[in-house]
Amino acid sequence: MRVDVLGVSIDAVTLPEAVRTVEGFIAEGGPHLVATANAEMVMAAGRDRELARILAGAALVVPDGAGVVWAARHLGHPVPERVAGFDLAQALLARAAEVGWRVFFFGGLPGIAAKASEAATAKWPGLVVAGVRDGYFAAEESADIAAAIRDSRPHILLAALGVPKQEKWLACHETALSVPVAMGVGGTFDVMAGVMRRAPLWMQRSGLEWLYRLGCEPSRIGRMMALPRFVLRVLAAKKH
Ligand code: UDP
Repeated sequence: MRVDVLGVSIDAVTLPEAVRTVEGFIAEGGPHLVATANAEMVMAAGRDRELARILAGAALVVPDGAGVVWAARHLGHPVPERVAGFDLAQALLARAAEVGWRVFFFGGLPGIAAKASEAATAKWPGLVVAGVRDGYFAAEESADIAAAIRDSRPHILLAALGVPKQEKWLACHETALSVPVAMGVGGTFDVMAGVMRRAPLWMQRSGLEWLYRLGCEPSRIGRMMALPRFVLRVLAAKKH
């Protein structure tokens, strides 16, 4: 079931259901885009038609973010839980190691994707890494990068280029990539590589992960002004 949050359709799934859904995508063959919607992304989609169109066409959009979970409940069509992009990526890596899916790590500063993949293979020894590539490149290199990813034959492509660059890049190169599942994972590799930390569990559970991230990276303040605007929009949407 999909629920509408300010024009973005979000799948009302739990983490295990999201993993099973991805399993179905891989069995079916590609391409499928997996997106992780938080308040910032919903607000970005409100002013960026290309992003809105990509999200509307995505195969799976999980409720990543306390704001989206709150909004869904407030608007009268709750989602079962928050499915953080980081957690979904970890669950998919664990499953990949069990069943032999090949995973490509694309994005982050030079060396970060490699470090993240090493952390993953240390944690899940059976994991097959199809390849790694950093996320800083000239636009003209995109076609070659997509071809290299395709030639490495991954089942899952994790792309960490930030929102909305990762969603746009994946959508633009969908045919060339010919990957069953491509997912935008934002800062996931930075956390896996150990250069960034996730908020403590109590903050994640009380919906305060955004505050922790702001504390770590005060320069996020501009982007985070989307949060209060999101809350106001949801409150206004309820009234209508
Ligand atoms: N990044 C990248 N290429 C770019 C811009 C960003 O690989 O051109 C990476 C950046 O190094 C970081 C991630 O994308 O690892 C973005 O992380 P962030 O936490 O900002 O993700 P978001 O909140 O946008 O999902």
